[in-house]
Amino acid sequence: MFGGIEAGGTKFVCGIGTGPEDIQTAQFPTSSPDITLRSVLDFFKAAGSQVQAIGIGSFGPIDLHRASPGYGRITSTPKPGWANFDLVGAVRKELHLPVAFDTDGNAALLGEVRWGAAQGLSDAVYITVGTGIGGGALVHGQLVHGLVHPEIGHLRIPHDWTRDPFPGVCPYHGDCLEGLASGPAMQARWGVPAGTLPPGHPGWELEAQYLALGLVNLAVTLSTGRILLGGGVMQQPHLFEMIRKEFARLLNKYVQHDEVIDHLGRFIQAPALGGRAGVLGSLVLAEQAVSAEAHEWAGERA
Ligand code: ADP
Ligand code: ZN
Repeated sequence: MFGGIEAGGTKFVCGIGTGPEDIQTAQFPTSSPDITLRSVLDFFKAAGSQVQAIGIGSFGPIDLHRASPGYGRITSTPKPGWANFDLVGAVRKELHLPVAFDTDGNAALLGEVRWGAAQGLSDAVYITVGTGIGGGALVHGQLVHGLVHPEIGHLRIPHDWTRDPFPGVCPYHGDCLEGLASGPAMQARWGVPAGTLPPGHPGWELEAQYLALGLVNLAVTLSTGRILLGGGVMQQPHLFEMIRKEFARLLNKYVQHDEVIDHLGRFIQAPALGGRAGVLGSLVLAEQAVSAEAHEWAGERA
């Protein structure tokens, strides 16, 4: 059995198991690191010795480089108490298990690749549109990490100030994608929570346009094979078709592939695992940590 932790800005979802048919989960609110970690660690301790490794898919920004002195930490978050918190260290110290660490977006994508809407694909992207906009990318079968890790929510996209005079909510950039299209951006622009805007409201057309601009940029840079859109704001079924239509208009048949011309219904779709993608993907991270360790051992013996 493996342990998975989806570390989110509002809640931690923990799970023990082997997959979607066999997982026991629990949720704890994200308060201070001490209080939240106490609940998380007690949950895994109660499972005794069944768990072989823990995978963590975390909100960020995070330090993913094993050689770095800050490895395993949440770095520059404005979330009180969490900046520089050593999440991997805290888990490892008490549970004495191998710990794998990646972004929440990469973990959710890994879950979808194994059991969900990106099964069998070597190239896919997962984006969550909620309190923030975040995501993960799989390119040629590998999760993308890079210099730090991708920050898909902070793509810079065209902003027509005449059509939309709203300056955006990102504390770093103002009108980046997250600044213009996250749930809080919609709420600040229209004065009501995004979920209460009726389907015909002009806010949805603007939202679809901003998201489609971001998706086109990903499609042309990564040549990705599928884009999964999750998170609170995507709980609006009408939004998917609006985004696909705008995506097709913006791409203008330049990329010559059936997937982005005739199969947009699957190219841009909802995650199949819903809210469980992150915790399930974290189980996969844990499983990979165990097999990587086995390889290292085999290497040392040889
Ligand atoms: P988090 O980002 O904390 O993981 P969510 O993905 O649920 O949480 O995102 C929360 C955001 O999504 C809030 O800004 C909220 O207004 C918005 N939201 C939640 N439900 C809906 C809905 N049904 N339709 C549109 N927006 C929603
Ligand atoms: Zn930004």
